[in-house]
Amino acid sequence: METNETFALLDATRAFLAKPKKMLIGAEWSDAASGRQLDVVNPADGAVIARVPEADERDVQQAVAAARHAFDAGPWRNAKTTDRERLMLVLADLIEVNARELAEIESLDNGKPVIVAQALDVAMAAQCFRYMAGWATKIEGSVIDAGMPYLLGSEIFAYTRKEPVGVVGAIIPWNFPLLMAAWKIAPSLATGCTVVLKPAEDTPLSALRLGELIQAAGFPDGVVNIVTGYGHTAGAALSRDPRIDKIAFTGSTQTGKTIGHAALDNMTRMSLELGGKSPVIVLPDVDLDTAAQGVANAIFFNQGQVCTAGSRAYIHSKVFDGVIERVAKLAANLKIGPGMDPATQIGPLVSAKQLERVCGYIDSGFGEGARAAAGGRALDGPGFFVEPTVLVDTTQAMRVVREEIFGPVLVAMPFDDVDTAVRLANDTPYGLGASIWSNDLAAIHKLIPRIAAGTVWVNCHSLLDNALPFGGMKQSGFGRELGRAVIDQYTESKSVMMNYA
Ligand code: NAP
Ligand code: MG
Repeated sequence: METNETFALLDATRAFLAKPKKMLIGAEWSDAASGRQLDVVNPADGAVIARVPEADERDVQQAVAAARHAFDAGPWRNAKTTDRERLMLVLADLIEVNARELAEIESLDNGKPVIVAQALDVAMAAQCFRYMAGWATKIEGSVIDAGMPYLLGSEIFAYTRKEPVGVVGAIIPWNFPLLMAAWKIAPSLATGCTVVLKPAEDTPLSALRLGELIQAAGFPDGVVNIVTGYGHTAGAALSRDPRIDKIAFTGSTQTGKTIGHAALDNMTRMSLELGGKSPVIVLPDVDLDTAAQGVANAIFFNQGQVCTAGSRAYIHSKVFDGVIERVAKLAANLKIGPGMDPATQIGPLVSAKQLERVCGYIDSGFGEGARAAAGGRALDGPGFFVEPTVLVDTTQAMRVVREEIFGPVLVAMPFDDVDTAVRLANDTPYGLGASIWSNDLAAIHKLIPRIAAGTVWVNCHSLLDNALPFGGMKQSGFGRELGRAVIDQYTESKSVMMNYA
């Protein structure tokens, strides 16, 4: 990879990176009780850019105690809904005011192009707080006309109220660090919950900066707590703490199951947004260029590190060669480079471990008989770069087709009839997303109900909006985030009956 010009970092970003990092527990910025720290690495060059506290069970317990106290003492759950709304809007504004700095932090920590981080991750995070702020004043129960034939002469007034579920333990991945923090913290704040957030060990920085903005916005102490550390220690301690009322997790299906078991032991509520192996179905009527661009975007966006990445393409045999030839060309022309280079379209993978994992999958594909129509190799370091890869001659039984790779690796297979496409698309333990590429309205409408996925996109892929529920079927998890649906996941319904006979 050639080295290129890069954007100059803002002074604010340099200052944030340079200062000692602490965790937000209650009103305090704290070191880990053990005094230990973990390195934060820039995946574009492998350099250590910061060190953050390595929380263990003691730190998590303190953070949970702070969140528990803040919830039980009531300054947030009993705050006027208009005050909750107002503070969340202040926070959204602060995110926007600091958008460039947050984007630079995200790019250096995760690897994604800084332009994408600013336009998408940071902008959507601000918008998520704004959207959820709107819900703070719109949480409603209902008045119910209770029948009760067995109670003669009764006069009953019955209604439901929605109450905050309580203390939320939020555990998030490294692919959209700030945005995932927003997806968990915003509905917690809107509903009157308090929260302990554990960002991924690979990408803790933007969450810590968000913590500073949360303090600056003026939220009561302990409403949001942020602990940095490893999943198997800090994350595990959070998921099994009986003082947590709800776990909100995004990450791999395997970790989701571990967390789910721990949570169930305490009957902790949970929402799990897990992995995917989302199919992209291309029907024979497509325009080849449009479809190819769509297929390429579906897999290569965010270096393929997207839970809804369109990682399996099922393309009608009539257009298979034409589409794949174009996707391969697009893949080969994508500009690979550091996120801070304005020309970069594909950044590095998040970590050396992820690079090894993705390359392991590509090699396993080759070992099972797949062929690369594009890419297939890691670039020489430093930095964790892999070529955008298109694998053909793949079969449904191969590991590259069955398992989530979480990198810029597409597998593509032809089909001759729609029934086969549906069968193959659904032949996966996952059910997060899917897209259909066609202008045949009747065919599209008939396909949508047949695909087992939480979201079906038509002539687009991985588009999200704060107003639309998002989540998975099958082993892609349960519960929905965003939209009206998420409010139900962060509240309990309480039924009230009053006899006034
Ligand atoms: P992961 O293990 O699911 O990690 C997600 C979050 O859970 C991180 O904060 C992680 O902490 C934490 N965690 C890990 N083990 C835990 C445990 N036993 N108890 C509580 N929390 C725990 O994902 P990963 O290891 O970063 O990536 C592995 C693979 O998962 C990826 O290659 C990809 O296939 C998949 N993945 C999917 C998504 C998605 O959105 N669907 C997101 C990320 C990864 P640490 O950061 O310290 O591990
Ligand atoms: Mg990093």
